[in-house]
Amino acid sequence: MKKFRVIVPIIIIVAVTIILVKILTPGKTSIQEKILNKSNSNIITNTLLVNNDNKLDENYKPYKSDVPNIPFIDNATNEEKQMEEVASKAVEELFKQAKEEGINFLGTSAYRSYATQKDIYTKKVISDGLTKANEYVAKPGSSEHQTGLCIDVTNEDRWFVGSTKEAIWLAENAHKFGFILRYPLGKEDITGKSYEPWHIRYVGKDVAKEIYENNSTLEEYTASKN
Ligand SMILES: [Zn+2]
Repeated sequence: MKKFRVIVPIIIIVAVTIILVKILTPGKTSIQEKILNKSNSNIITNTLLVNNDNKLDENYKPYKSDVPNIPFIDNATNEEKQMEEVASKAVEELFKQAKEEGINFLGTSAYRSYATQKDIYTKKVISDGLTKANEYVAKPGSSEHQTGLCIDVTNEDRWFVGSTKEAIWLAENAHKFGFILRYPLGKEDITGKSYEPWHIRYVGKDVAKEIYENNSTLEEYTASKN
């Protein structure tokens, strides 16, 4: 009995200590994967899912903005040339490799602030009505462009349909640089968006490879990890 009186409290103390350590120790995360936004109120990862069901708040901005050293179309604004730094560096690598293989891309639009998206959406509602606006323009907060992790690209002909050599190259190679084709053909019911061969999203190389190999989407990837 005396032994019990000593052993039981020790077991309780050890158990409580283990539980506390587990609660108080942050999970193992690489700095690359976890990005804090400027207000430090929102921790995101490269796999941040943004769509109609998962909106960003109006204060969300890329943690560290950078303008990639790539050619842009002439009328790209300074805002839309910005990207989250990790994605910016990756897109530079992608453009460089493509060029070596005779494929020339131009950036059209990367980061778009909540205010800009709100402006685009409001103008569309005024000009074309609510139904058309909802069909063609993302509601403020639901555009992935607000993350700074994606970019729309085009080719020298400014004609970026899925059958062009540039679109084919992008679909086959983007994952090698950590990007996925965010709105693939045949996945419209899952992404909630029409096929966009020009819109690539940075998720990091490992996730991009997994999504590419499974012919999957960020929605499906996220659901499989939850
Ligand atoms: Zn886009």
